[in-house]
Amino acid sequence: MQKINNTSLKNYNSFGIDAISSSFNIVNSELEITSFLKETNYTQPIILGGGTNILFKNDVDKDILKINLKGIKIYNETNTYVDVSVGAGEIWDDLVKWSIAKNYGGLQNLSLIPGNVGSAPIQNIGAYGVELKETFLNCRAISIDSGSIKVFKNNECKFSYRSSIFKEELKNKYIISNVTFRLSKKDHQINFSYEPLRDNLIKKNISIPTINDISNSVIEIRSSKLPDPKIIGNCGSFFKNPIISKIDFKNLNQKEKNIPFFNISFNEIKIPAAWLIEKCGFKGLREGNTGTHNKHALIIINLGNATGKEIFDFSQKIKKAVLRKFNILLEEEVNII
Ligand SMILES: Cc1cc2nc3c(=O)[nH]c(=O)nc-3n(C[C@H](O)[C@H](O)[C@H](O)COP(=O)(O)OP(=O)(O)OC[C@H]3O[C@@H](n4cnc5c(N)ncnc54)[C@H](O)[C@@H]3O)c2cc1C
Repeated sequence: MQKINNTSLKNYNSFGIDAISSSFNIVNSELEITSFLKETNYTQPIILGGGTNILFKNDVDKDILKINLKGIKIYNETNTYVDVSVGAGEIWDDLVKWSIAKNYGGLQNLSLIPGNVGSAPIQNIGAYGVELKETFLNCRAISIDSGSIKVFKNNECKFSYRSSIFKEELKNKYIISNVTFRLSKKDHQINFSYEPLRDNLIKKNISIPTINDISNSVIEIRSSKLPDPKIIGNCGSFFKNPIISKIDFKNLNQKEKNIPFFNISFNEIKIPAAWLIEKCGFKGLREGNTGTHNKHALIIINLGNATGKEIFDFSQKIKKAVLRKFNILLEEEVNII
C-alpha cells in the first residue's frame, strides 16, 4: 500500500479539479484493503477508481482509497463461452480491447467508456444499446463495516438504468475488488439497434458486422462527439436521462411539441436530458471557468481552472432551469463528493 498526505487530486479525476486530499492511499490487493479498513477502525473512506464519474466539490479531509487491483484471468471455459475474472483496478477499455483481440463477444458496444472495471457495476455502465449487466456474472466485494468478503451474483446487484444496489441501498457499504464476466466464444450477440451505430455501419457498407466492426464504429462515433477528458475536463453525462410516466409525458407534449423520447416500459418514457437542457438555452453556454459542451448539452466542462464548487453551482443552475420549464427534476449521474 502507498500512502501520500496532502496531495492534489488533479490527475485523479477527469474533471481535472485541483482539490487537495489529506490522506491518499493506493491499494493493490484484497489484503491491503482489509488491513487498511482494520487500521482505520472500519471508518468510511472515499473509494476512487479512475475518477471519471466523480466531482470533488471541495478539498477532501477523509481517507481516499484508490483501488488498484490488477489482473485479467480466464478461470472457466467451455466450447461456447469464457468466464473472465478481472481486478477492479484494470482500465475498462483495456479489458474491452483484450476481449476483442481474443474474439470474445459481449463488451464491444461498451468500447472507449472511461474508468475502471471495479466501478463499472456501480452504475451498470451502458452505451449504444448495451449495458454491463448483460455480461456480468458476479463480483467480489469487501464490506467496509467488517472487512468480510461477499460474492454478489448478477441477480443480487439489482441492476437498472445507470444504477445498481451499490448506488442505492448498499451505497458506500462495499468495495468491489474483482468482477467476473461471461463472454461468448462464438455466435456472438451483435447489437446495432442504436440508430447512430446502424448508420455508421451502413455508411461503411457493413451489413453483417463482427464484434471488431461494432467496436470500431462505436469508437468512431464516440470520438467525434464526446470531448476527450485529457483535453477538456469532464465526466461525460452529468445527469441521467429522466424517466417519466406516459401520463406526464402526454401533458408535457401538449405544451412542448416534438419532444424526443424512448418507450422503455408499458407506462414509462425516457427523455434525453440533453434536449431538455438545450431547450433551456444551456447548450454551449459558458460561465466563468465552466459551461456545457457545444456538441452535447449534457456534458459539463472545465474550461481550465474551474473549482469543484463552480462546476457544482453551474450544474444546480441547469437543474433549476429544467425544473422550472418542464417540471422535471434531473438526477445527477456524477457522484458528488
Ligand atoms: C468522456 C466520458 C464519457 C463517458 N461515457 C459513459 C457512457 O457512455 N456510459 C456510462 O455508463 N458512463 C460513461 N461515463 C462515466 C464513467 O466512465 C463511468 O461511470 C465509469 O464506470 C466510472 O469509472 P471510474 O473508475 O472512473 O469511477 P470513479 O469516478 O472513480 O467512481 C465512480 C463511483 O464508483 C465508486 N467506486 C469506484 N470504484 C469502486 C470500487 N472498486 N468499489 C466500490 N465503489 C467504487 C466511487 O466511490 C464513485 O461513487 C463517461 C465518462 C466520461 C468522462
